[in-house]
Parts: sequence; structure tokens; C-alpha cells
Amino acid sequence: MTTDEIYMQRALELAEQAQKADEVPVGAVLVMDGEIVGEGYNQVISLSDPSAHAEAQAIRAAGQAIDNYRLVNSTLYVTLEPCAMCAGLITHARVKRLVFGATDPRTGATGTAIDVINHASMNHKVEVQSGVLAEECGDILRRFFRARRKSAKLSTK
Ligand SMILES: [Zn+2]
Repeated sequence: MTTDEIYMQRALELAEQAQKADEVPVGAVLVMDGEIVGEGYNQVISLSDPSAHAEAQAIRAAGQAIDNYRLVNSTLYVTLEPCAMCAGLITHARVKRLVFGATDPRTGATGTAIDVINHASMNHKVEVQSGVLAEECGDILRRFFRARRKSAKLSTK
């Protein structure tokens, strides 16, 4: 396993936490100097907070942990391609490198649906690496939505 895969594995564990809480399973970890300083998973429903995406949770936790609003020289690992809100946040936080697993054709904001992270007006550039454990990261989401469709069907009978 590469270092990126090891951290992505941890992000996947966090995605499972989200799944257990019936939230869309996305997990994230923020790494600085080879150490995890923030972790998070999608909690929008349980916290009644539309901004509680996995990336935002990990970035908030990291900011608190290092007592700084700028996460210079950090790497953010997230199981799913960030949305526009999170891509903006990653830029504001000065994250150096973004590593994600599955691409999101619907709302991915690193160039899949729209490109916020590489937008010309962004004065902070983020290195982006996609496709790390993409299969596993996509599978947990597919399983979640399949199960949800199944239970939706059952409840209408
Ligand atoms: Zn997001």
C-alpha cells in the first residue's frame, strides 16, 4: 500500500461511520507532517447542517487541533470528489494537496461537473490527485444508494 492508500483507507473507515448513521457515506482525513490532525465524515442530517460534509468536518477539526485557520502544507484525503462548497473551502484553508477516490459526475468540482479548484480566479493552487482506491470509495456509495432504493420500494408496497 502507498502512503496515499493508507490514509484513504482511514477515510473509508470514516465513510462507514457515516453509513452507520444513515448518512451518505463519505469520509475525509487531513494530514500534516505525516500525522492525521483532522478527521470527519458526512453528518448533514444528524447535525442538521448542510455544510457538514466530510471535508468540511475534517478541515474544521484540523483547524481546531493546530489552532490555525490556514492548513499550510497539508494534504486532504476524501473518498469522493469534493463539491463546489468544499472545493472553495479547501482553497480558503490553503490545503496544499487534495487526494480523492471516486469522481462525482453530478457535483464534482475539480473538473468533473464543474471546475472550482482550478478556476483561474483562485489565487491559491491545489495539487489534485484522483482515483486513489477509487473502486472501494465508489462501492460504498453504490451499496448505500442501492439499499436506499430497495427500502424506498418496500415502503411503497
Ligand atoms: Zn462538499
